[in-house]
Amino acid sequence: MQTHFSDAALARPHIQRADKVLRSCVHCGFCNATCPTYQLLGDERDGPRGRIYLIKQLLESDPESQDASTRQQASEITRETQRHLDRCLSCRSCETTCPSGVQYHTLLDIGRQELERRVGRPWRERLLRSGLRHALVEPARFKALLALGVRFRPLAPGALADKIPLARERDHQAEHPTAPVAVAATPSDQALSRQGHSQQGLSRQVLMLEGCVQPGLAPNINAATARVLARFGIGVTPIQEAGCCGAIDYHLNAQQAGRARMRANIDAWWPAIEAGAEAIVQTASGCGAFVKEYGEMLADDPDYAERAARVSALARDIVEVLGEEIARDDRQSLAAAPDQQPLAFHCPCTLQHAQGLGGEVEKILSQLGFTLAPVMEGHLCCGSAGTYSITQPELSRQLRDRKLEALEANGPARIATANIGCQTHLSSAGRTPVSHWIELVDDALPETLPQE
Ligand code: SF4
Ligand code: SF4
Repeated sequence: MQTHFSDAALARPHIQRADKVLRSCVHCGFCNATCPTYQLLGDERDGPRGRIYLIKQLLESDPESQDASTRQQASEITRETQRHLDRCLSCRSCETTCPSGVQYHTLLDIGRQELERRVGRPWRERLLRSGLRHALVEPARFKALLALGVRFRPLAPGALADKIPLARERDHQAEHPTAPVAVAATPSDQALSRQGHSQQGLSRQVLMLEGCVQPGLAPNINAATARVLARFGIGVTPIQEAGCCGAIDYHLNAQQAGRARMRANIDAWWPAIEAGAEAIVQTASGCGAFVKEYGEMLADDPDYAERAARVSALARDIVEVLGEEIARDDRQSLAAAPDQQPLAFHCPCTLQHAQGLGGEVEKILSQLGFTLAPVMEGHLCCGSAGTYSITQPELSRQLRDRKLEALEANGPARIATANIGCQTHLSSAGRTPVSHWIELVDDALPETLPQE
């Protein structure tokens, strides 16, 4: 694709990056075929190719230019442009499909940031977006708000109410500890969590990003991960100071706040990294995908670039860590022989499209003896996409229901996934129970693996 940036514009690093992405696109349109919003809405501007054009028009235009046509182009950037970019899920399915390797998400981030500067939002949207940022990113605040939300759920607006577990789900959690639940952070769960994080005597140590909403919504996930790792002789060093990965701020166009969170996490992890921690393990693929990009996103920060690149190199999804351990372990006991009720796996976009780890969880589950039901349209987003389910509730619900139809087509007893956002979103329909896959592995493996 040809671009028309002035030399002055090209002197700015973000325009240089955008120019590179734009030039790599040959506008073939293959990406539209796998774009969830294009599939639902059928509008070119709600597909990747159309959005690429919109961002090109935005970045090439200038409302203060001396040139009349550039000013005219700028006047066409409106709320309508914003609507089409807001509807993008950032699922990156288009990137997996693109034969030219177009880094769409890089362009989208640049475009959204510029658009936010140029086109205002109504106060309701501003309030919602800033409320989400403040409510979600601090685990303690989120837990307190969630407890309130469960109590006053009937008064919450529809899209928000969908995200708040019902009180009866608390009871369900007591019977089925692998179900996601908010206030089921019962003392015993918390004790388990602490227990799971106290294996500092083990010679191999990793760090774990605990996440911002996950400890409140499904505290058993990190605890289960720590227990599974401990069976393979790997301990988790707790780092209390590490917090939200920054993705929520970043994707709500508060990029500076997102960067500040990245720097704070790097500072928190650094002493343990220097002490030899071998990985930073993520159990939420959305956070994992983001931490893997710290290096790229802080590349122009002289104080953090090097450490950010090191952190990204150490970031591993739990499926990568466990996959390696299982691959070099020939103990028969690893064939855990769990119950044979079929399981459907929903691979989050952040695991398959952003991290390129599609198929890896399914491989481990099969190796451990789980029966996996086939799932159609595995590449399509479930509609969760960070805060999308709250900012775009209609589209999000349509995608969720379509995803559930595909997942439930072969009658699984349970759905497993690898990201708390997808888990909560799919659970919100109140249909087939949804768990994180590592909880199922934790339940299935013997408490102690025999020595090799
Ligand atoms: S598939 Fe790739 S090259 Fe083709 S239009 Fe989409 S982004 Fe551009
Ligand atoms: S990121 Fe997802 S929703 Fe956005 S354009 Fe690409 S495929 Fe479509």
